[in-house]
Amino acid sequence: MSEYMLLGVKTKLNLTDAQKVLMAKHAGIRRFTFNWGLGAWQDLHRAGCKFNYRTLRTFFNKHLKAEYAWIKEKGICQKVTEFAFEDLNAAFNRFFKGQAKYPNFKKKGKHDSFTINSGGKPMPFGGKSIKLPTIGWVRLYEGLPDGTTNKITISRMADDWYISFAYNQKKPEVYNNIIPAVGVDLGVKTLATLSTGKIFENPRYLRGYLKQLARLQRRLDRKEYGSNNRQKAKNKLQRMYAKIKFLRQDLIHKITNYICKNHATIVIEDLNVSGMLANGNLALSIDDCSFYEFRRQLEYKAKKFDCELIIVDRWFPSSKTCSTCGHKHENLTLKDRVFNCPNCGLQIDRDLNAALNLLKLAYIN
Ligand SMILES: [Zn+2]
Repeated sequence: MSEYMLLGVKTKLNLTDAQKVLMAKHAGIRRFTFNWGLGAWQDLHRAGCKFNYRTLRTFFNKHLKAEYAWIKEKGICQKVTEFAFEDLNAAFNRFFKGQAKYPNFKKKGKHDSFTINSGGKPMPFGGKSIKLPTIGWVRLYEGLPDGTTNKITISRMADDWYISFAYNQKKPEVYNNIIPAVGVDLGVKTLATLSTGKIFENPRYLRGYLKQLARLQRRLDRKEYGSNNRQKAKNKLQRMYAKIKFLRQDLIHKITNYICKNHATIVIEDLNVSGMLANGNLALSIDDCSFYEFRRQLEYKAKKFDCELIIVDRWFPSSKTCSTCGHKHENLTLKDRVFNCPNCGLQIDRDLNAALNLLKLAYIN
């Protein structure tokens, strides 16, 4: 299991007038390139030609960049045109998948933005300034944690410019600060993900025992009914089950104590009981029981520590909704560990996104 999670950041740039002009030039080149690509795409499509965005990009780089000197002006990061073609391709992909409308020509002053990178080299960031490829150092209003990223997007809202990018961060270990409200996403691989970023993993030793439990279950299934060996296998299985249940319960006590001691309002999702009733597999039912135990402990500890516990209808689409823009990502599958928002571009750990959506309900209810 990864120790890292993918986070996204968007923060306001503190630019000089000259830098603002430079940003506007980049956004203009990106718009020009995108629109040229979209026009070419439509023409070639109408003419029945076979092509893809790379064909267009090669043609553009070979013939048009030479013609339009202002694209190659000093201080312009040439990656801006590469990403314009990638954006065009992504826009068509979203359209073909039925996730978005047919791409439109970009208008000046509307969603001005551009993306650049450092030719594949990671770009370090940290503190209140960041060095952009070709553009150079720019200042920020708020400090950033230390890290690296592979590409950055700069966008304009009203007269302000913002920088946004995704980065990997080590999952945080300890939080001592008290945060009033918290959303809690319960899972199997990660037992609990809090909206504060704190994570409670299913420990390695427990995962090992769970594998053993599954093995004992299979062994039992192979034994003949009524035989001595079957009884022996059954005893072994039950001992292992009791051991895991005890360890799990102990772990859940630690988690629910932490949550109730550090937060005044707790939001969790109602639990799915259908699985528990249906399956006779002990290894699976451990997970179901954990959910029950989690909720039972939270309920009495919330009273003990004087917290408000909000239990959200289990049909609330906490996993599929973007915690930034509210877009519903219907194509998200259980395999997707990272939530990639097709609407606003947010990239975030799936469970953290769900926890953040639950957190919001603390302020609505
Ligand atoms: Zn979004």
